[in-house]
Amino acid sequence: MPIEPAASTGNLLLDALSGSDRALIERDLEPVTVARGDTILTAESGASPVIFPCDQAVVALVVATHDGRMAETASVGHDGAVGGIIGQGRLPNAVSGLVQVGGRVLRLDADRLREAERRSATFRDLFARYADCFLAQLLLIGACNAVHPIEQRCLRWLLTLQDRTGGDTLPVTHELMAAMLGVQRTYLTRILRVLQEQGLLRAERGRITIVDRRAVSAAACACHARVRLHCEAVLGAVYGPDGPRRAAPDADAGPVSRTA
Ligand SMILES: [Zn+2]
Repeated sequence: MPIEPAASTGNLLLDALSGSDRALIERDLEPVTVARGDTILTAESGASPVIFPCDQAVVALVVATHDGRMAETASVGHDGAVGGIIGQGRLPNAVSGLVQVGGRVLRLDADRLREAERRSATFRDLFARYADCFLAQLLLIGACNAVHPIEQRCLRWLLTLQDRTGGDTLPVTHELMAAMLGVQRTYLTRILRVLQEQGLLRAERGRITIVDRRAVSAAACACHARVRLHCEAVLGAVYGPDGPRRAAPDADAGPVSRTA
């Protein structure tokens, strides 16, 4: 069933479109309910569909390696889109879209997105800016994974997930988090225990609670804040104070009202 033209879609990128730009695609947005662990994007011969996570849903782009391991390269929540959003929209081989937090997503054929980009300069501009934000995440997180200690990467990953889901308690298993960070689960559990002893978080079965976001931000590497600052500068309509609403509370970037 198509969404109502004037209603919030639950996705900030779509909500940042003007009414006339949104009208170019709204009839083609297909609501789909996804569950944690679902693979909703795979490398295909043609352009990948575009997935807009809504509300608390989070989808990660993961890369599988030849030895059966995987690692996250980017994650997207209600602030953006994943799939066929850059260039001609083809995902590289071994890349797939894995649901980290289940919920509702809106699916759009990449051809419909390309057509709307051809018809409207403002539509094209918004998605070009979003592509810059997505690329910034790929570049900065790629470097983070290569050079920063696992403790800081854990905290950066949790801050990013909190941006997408809102509350302090994050619905994540040690197994999923270990897979996303490319480490063994038992190793990750030891790291989380250390971070818990430092009073930063509380790790329980199936969930992790950020006890003090300001302290977590201070203890994490700067990569999370750098991605956010870039996105705020490039795409204020979604990430900035003038956007339809902020993606999440951000203690490391000043006072922000929470409007989940
Ligand atoms: Zn880092």
